[in-house]
Amino acid sequence: MQRLWGPIEWVATAVCTIGEGLERRVAELWAARELPLASMLDSVGSGAVESLAEYVNDLLCQESIPLGLPVTNRVSPGYGYWDVSQQKALFALCPGDAIGVSLNEACFMSPVKSISLMAAAGTHARVDHYFSQCARCWMRDCAYRRTPAKKTVHR
Ligand code: SF4
Repeated sequence: MQRLWGPIEWVATAVCTIGEGLERRVAELWAARELPLASMLDSVGSGAVESLAEYVNDLLCQESIPLGLPVTNRVSPGYGYWDVSQQKALFALCPGDAIGVSLNEACFMSPVKSISLMAAAGTHARVDHYFSQCARCWMRDCAYRRTPAKKTVHR
């Protein structure tokens, strides 16, 4: 991770989920051959869990920046060069059972609309290595914002 993040002093792991409700409804819609609706609802679920993961990343940022520790962008097992089998190591640090998220043998999470993530912090951490985290951050009154949000920061 040093290649992406530079020198870091802390790492944080998290698992977040929107639960099983949406997945169940998508399955019902598929069974009823309501394919466009099923597909659209599934996309909404993907967007929702991504937003949740972003929110977690931004909360870490809000906690750490006042301590002089910029927070990196998040990464997840299975993305880029990080092998999905590393989910097991991440879950060892941050078990998902408290929120009902489990891993199967192939390291896929259940409920499906779940994201595990790791972010880091450090005085000299490289925070904007591929895009500015602030550009899509929802923190409305953040005193440390480096660039305006591209979309509304209202929720
Ligand atoms: S606006 Fe930027 S510095 Fe502030 S919490 Fe969001 S990502 Fe972090």
